[in-house]
Amino acid sequence: MAYDDYHWTAWAAGFFEGEGCITAASGAHSKRGNIALSVSNSDLSMLERFRDVVGVGAIYEQRAKTTPGRRQMWAWNLWNQREVDQVCDRLWTFLSERRRTRIVELRYLRAEAIMRALRPRECPTCHCEFCPMPGNSATAKVYCSKRCRDNAPYKRERYRAKHKAAQRRYVERKRLASGLV
Ligand SMILES: [Zn+2]
Repeated sequence: MAYDDYHWTAWAAGFFEGEGCITAASGAHSKRGNIALSVSNSDLSMLERFRDVVGVGAIYEQRAKTTPGRRQMWAWNLWNQREVDQVCDRLWTFLSERRRTRIVELRYLRAEAIMRALRPRECPTCHCEFCPMPGNSATAKVYCSKRCRDNAPYKRERYRAKHKAAQRRYVERKRLASGLV
């Protein structure tokens, strides 16, 4: 069975339309405006078929949150942005206006987040202005270089405080030792 044909794409889009979710990723990924796709269902074989048709994503067991008598739920999840875009593009023709609007909206927000992440900023150590390279760490980039990160002012202070405390302990011990003699 060839899952890459028109009919299977239409089936997958219909399944996603009914059961799927398009969300802004949470946690560390939210800063990059990442988009997440998921489909929850109690029928594992349907999710496996969906995964085989779109060719990407992983299936997870969902723990029952409320009553123990509830049916076992499964979820197909996709976080990889390149693959999220591939799946959205492939299902696009068959998706409803509501879903399409949501995709466009989240893509717009993601583009904005990437723009924000690439803004020039000032290095707290050497005070130079630098512009981070596009990539996964761009949002978190604070220092212009590894050297500046290692020599960060707060780290220097912490280092000094540690050594001052060690010195104080040494002097105190010396004093006590000399008092005992
Ligand atoms: Zn620097």
